[in-house]
Amino acid sequence: MFKHLKAVPGDPLLALIVAHQQDTNPKKIDLGVGVYKDDTGLTPILESVKKAEAFMVENEVTKSYLGVYGAPEFSPIIQDLLLGKDSDVIKQGRIQSTQTPGGTGALKVAADFISANLSDARLWVSDPTWGNHQSIFDSAGVEVIAYPYYDATTNGVRFDEMMSKLEAETKEGDVLLLHACCHNPTGVDLKIEHWEALTELVNKRNLLPLVDAAYQGFGDGLEEDMAGLRYMAERVPSMLIANSFSKNFGVYRDRCGGLSVIAATGEEAKNAFSIIGQAIRANYSMPPAHGATLVHTIMSNPELKSLWETEVTQMRDRINGLRSQLVQKLAKSGVSKDFSFIEQQRGMFSYSGLTFEQVRQLRSEYSIYIADTGRMSIAGVSDQNIDYLCDSIAKVVG
Ligand code: PMP
Repeated sequence: MFKHLKAVPGDPLLALIVAHQQDTNPKKIDLGVGVYKDDTGLTPILESVKKAEAFMVENEVTKSYLGVYGAPEFSPIIQDLLLGKDSDVIKQGRIQSTQTPGGTGALKVAADFISANLSDARLWVSDPTWGNHQSIFDSAGVEVIAYPYYDATTNGVRFDEMMSKLEAETKEGDVLLLHACCHNPTGVDLKIEHWEALTELVNKRNLLPLVDAAYQGFGDGLEEDMAGLRYMAERVPSMLIANSFSKNFGVYRDRCGGLSVIAATGEEAKNAFSIIGQAIRANYSMPPAHGATLVHTIMSNPELKSLWETEVTQMRDRINGLRSQLVQKLAKSGVSKDFSFIEQQRGMFSYSGLTFEQVRQLRSEYSIYIADTGRMSIAGVSDQNIDYLCDSIAKVVG
């Protein structure tokens, strides 16, 4: 039956993890994997999550089915976090949200919804974008087209080129995927004036924005990171938002996220949401409850919520602190290249500007594991390895 099948290459980032695991060099460093790590290299369970878990064990009375959208009390939590409590969209009842298995589950449901209901819509993604965007929309049969985004010479956004391309080539009903903050893989975010111009473009060309919010709290703050998304959400008739709680609650393996639909009227939002429910039913029937119960427990208890906010701040401060340290230490190590842009980037990742050859040399000679594109996961840097890392980069870059 399967004789004709040929093995496909796995995700190169997952292969990088395995190669790092098998490396026996005690100095090895993993800057590939996209999870938060503390200074000891551990991806910790947050204290707020541990406390919520203890509460859950004591208080959970059933594990019966919850329904396709998960727990109904979870959707206001998603909406308040994304749009803020004062949102007009929320007040007008123009948003509906469902719990999903991680941000990936939300994107997959969105892709199926778009493919089945928005005829001929194409998806516009940044060049580059998170690799799975392409796979998810390919598998749903939605054509994916890239718009210019990352500028390797300035380490900023090629915003004029991005706008020109979108102005010239989008057609009514196309979907525009934007990263809310902490752009993966580059770490280079849109500024508020970019969101303003894009909002105008969305309205002028009648596009559907799909905002991927996977790192809320990891850039400049839980509220600050949503500024662009909120600006747009309050001014466009329709929007989809796929969000992930994997990073900001550290519940990666529990698979917890959300998909929200904003529409011109409350009724329109409800209609679209009912169809989203069908897409969920046909995919995985219903989302897992564990992660969402934890998030709900934390967000509905003022003490746990405040502890969680402190923990998000700690994770963010550590990453941003590491960015500053990296820039200083690289400069001190006498490296010829200017790496100061790393401090301006946000979130878990940094497009380091290291070439393919330099990345490969760091891997083979120094056991430092960085994605072939030069994307470094900043959280993999620690007090223990930062000197070795900077010295090695200096030797390779010259
Ligand atoms: N979107 C982006 C941009 C991501 O980086 C990720 C996680 N790597 C996701 C979505 C999906 O997150 P989750 O693990 O919650 O599925």
